[in-house]
Amino acid sequence: MSAVMITRKVSRKWEKLPGKNTFCCDGRVMMARQKGVFYLTLFLIIGTCSLFFAFECPYLAVHLSPAIPVFAVLLFVFVVAMLLRTSFSDPGVLPRALPEEANFIEMEIEAANGNVMAGQRPPPRIKNVQINNQIVKLKYCYTCKIFRPPRASHCSICDNCVDRFDHHCPWVGNCVGKRNYRYFYLFTLSLSLLTIYIFAFDIVHVVLRSVDSGFLSTIKETPGTVLEVLVCFFTLWSVVGLTGFHTYLISLNQTTNEDIKGSWSGKNRVQNPYSHKNIIKNCCEVLCGPNYPSVLDRRGLMLEDSTSPAPPAASAASTHKSSNPVSQTTKSSAPLILNEHTPDEAKPSIGAGPQKSTSSPKEEKPPSPTSPNAVAPAVIKESAH
Ligand SMILES: [Zn+2]
Ligand SMILES: [Zn+2]
Repeated sequence: MSAVMITRKVSRKWEKLPGKNTFCCDGRVMMARQKGVFYLTLFLIIGTCSLFFAFECPYLAVHLSPAIPVFAVLLFVFVVAMLLRTSFSDPGVLPRALPEEANFIEMEIEAANGNVMAGQRPPPRIKNVQINNQIVKLKYCYTCKIFRPPRASHCSICDNCVDRFDHHCPWVGNCVGKRNYRYFYLFTLSLSLLTIYIFAFDIVHVVLRSVDSGFLSTIKETPGTVLEVLVCFFTLWSVVGLTGFHTYLISLNQTTNEDIKGSWSGKNRVQNPYSHKNIIKNCCEVLCGPNYPSVLDRRGLMLEDSTSPAPPAASAASTHKSSNPVSQTTKSSAPLILNEHTPDEAKPSIGAGPQKSTSSPKEEKPPSPTSPNAVAPAVIKESAH
């Protein structure tokens, strides 16, 4: 008779998340896997600002005002902070369904569709919900095995469904969604201001210095200026254009994804049910609305059981020590999951992907029909026709 030893390993839930994200700082930082363009963004911003601080700021502080470099530093810090906040945060990833939940949804779909004849195409997996008197279709995600909440979409790069998905931005190295959109917008807005600021004061610097010592000697003395002007000039159009586009989207309470797909364009005769028909209200909701908690519980703890053949001495000792040897040698069907907040509770949840786990009740609130943040399968049950 062979004994089996169970070893329990404590790990964080981010280690088992199924998408294509990368995590740093023990799950605190979450990004897309491809980060090359993000490093380029960071390099361009820091490089251009460093040249400005080195070549123009000393001259401008003496000849115009010391406030010029001070404001540039403040703006630079704000831009980098907004960039990192957008890049390092959970954009609003929706957890995938657990195997049991996926089976339940499959059963529900099969029951609703009835028997499909062999060779016939099954009907599309869509559910309709009513939002502000508009019928909105919820599509089934075959990867995440959930009916996506309204406005959510599956990012093929990150391989996750993201709530209020706007777009995947390689420049910030992350998806832009419900939880980081406002920081993304503040990043583009402040970057536009910073680019215009540096570009304008580059020109002022060249003009002032040329009056004193001539244009050619100015360029020779401050070679960084030419590079800065070129970088700012080419960045300006795209960044200011992008900010203008997102200002337009915010005023309509619309996402880039919805704009590209034409979700609320006239041809469908479906009006945007999320718009308040008021620019100020729309801007307030997008920019000043509540900060939604992450539903991933990335730093939650989980216990994994792994079985291995026990050495004879150890197995004998464990048999003597244990008052209930069966519980020690039998692998439980549902692994016990530790949670930082509720270590004694172990209820099934879809908080951390396919592994059986629990999530913090603080972070996983019960779904409500008005909250798209609610977990999809539960929303459907309440609101589907
Ligand atoms: Zn998905
Ligand atoms: Zn993405």
